[in-house]
Amino acid sequence: MTTLQDCLRRDADDPLAPLRELFVLPPGVIYLDGNSLGPLPRATPERIARAVREEWGQGLIRSWNDAGWFELPQRVGDKIATLVGARAGEVVATDSTSINLFKVLSVALSIAAADTPQRRTIISERSNFPTDLYIAEGLCRERGFTLQLLEPEQIAAAVDERTAVLMLTHVNYRTGAMHDMQAVTRAAQAAGALVVWDLAHSAGAVPVDLHAADADFAVGCGYKYLNGGPGAPAFVWVHPRHAERGWQPLSGWWGHATPFTFTPNYQPAPGVGRYLCGTQPILSLTALDGGLDTLLAAQPLGGMTALRRKSLALTDLFIALVEERCAGHGLGLATPREHAARGSQVCLTREQGAHAIVQALIARGVIGDFRAGAPDILRFGFPPLYLRFEDVWQAVEHLRAVLVEEEWRRPEFQRVQAVT
Ligand SMILES: *Cc1c(COP(=O)(O)O)cnc(C)c1O
Repeated sequence: MTTLQDCLRRDADDPLAPLRELFVLPPGVIYLDGNSLGPLPRATPERIARAVREEWGQGLIRSWNDAGWFELPQRVGDKIATLVGARAGEVVATDSTSINLFKVLSVALSIAAADTPQRRTIISERSNFPTDLYIAEGLCRERGFTLQLLEPEQIAAAVDERTAVLMLTHVNYRTGAMHDMQAVTRAAQAAGALVVWDLAHSAGAVPVDLHAADADFAVGCGYKYLNGGPGAPAFVWVHPRHAERGWQPLSGWWGHATPFTFTPNYQPAPGVGRYLCGTQPILSLTALDGGLDTLLAAQPLGGMTALRRKSLALTDLFIALVEERCAGHGLGLATPREHAARGSQVCLTREQGAHAIVQALIARGVIGDFRAGAPDILRFGFPPLYLRFEDVWQAVEHLRAVLVEEEWRRPEFQRVQAVT
């Protein structure tokens, strides 16, 4: 049996423990939703204030050059590259995940249409995050492709001579299940398909090596594990073998080879720079840059390898404690036990009351979230940068109290808000 003292001892022995100091974490809150919106880094308010006061206020338009605003998407992209196994110059931070997916999927379809015109299908996972499916659905309508949605275990066998693109999210947002990126990519490419990965729940959460996997395209999110703030810019990676193939469909002036010649004709920038569209949100990119610095601060302490070790220890502990201390209360486990198949979150299932249980936990300061479905899911993220083993213990004790006392049945926890 694990005890609170065991958890406190593990915190005392944790070489990553000092990283928690990089964040503003409100007292009395155990934040298990950093997989949905990362917390505020302590340095970010001053950094944004400086960008506003000095760069904008004093530098004015000169700051595009003098403060390095113009290259910010590339500079931030280079930091992201170190987390996902990409090289410097291969990633840009820009737009949203949805928009970036539209761009890369569109290019992937154009490549398929040119090289392998008999391939007319996009394959994805039925439980992929809906926006990914909606973007694919929209492009299929426009370009005459078909979207085929499958269960994860059906995918490998389904990729065949009709498949243009396999589009997957590496870590599933609902279950925390993680694909074997290298094996899935290799098998799909052997069958002749291009592979697009969404790293929304992987970048900064689990080690990713896009080059080792030899993936074709990737996108990811800036406001989850990268701590870039609400609506932070997302990112795009394109394998160098594709980076200069074709135009991405949002051929705006920021993706032009020489935007300040103001020529009437578009000429795409070399490399991934062409995946920019229009003027970039500098204040948001500044916040994302600060979020990335919290992850880079882990590099002298072992980087993603050390973060992954702690993340697995935290999720293992949560699963074990829920099973020990909340047994008999109808909770199931949606997340794989196998380490290689688990991201940095744990999702519990319950036939009834899942939403109200999450609300009751939030009232106690334990912030997770609820995802509707069959079955409903209680979702808890465990970003290893700032969570303690003690937090895991306390979170499970609160969950136990909510279940044992049936606190979740109270009327105030039955109300459903716009954002869950
Ligand atoms: C969070 C998430 C998104 C979010 O897309 P936005 O364009 O930022 O709204 C997209 N895809 C996946 C898989 C996600 O987890």
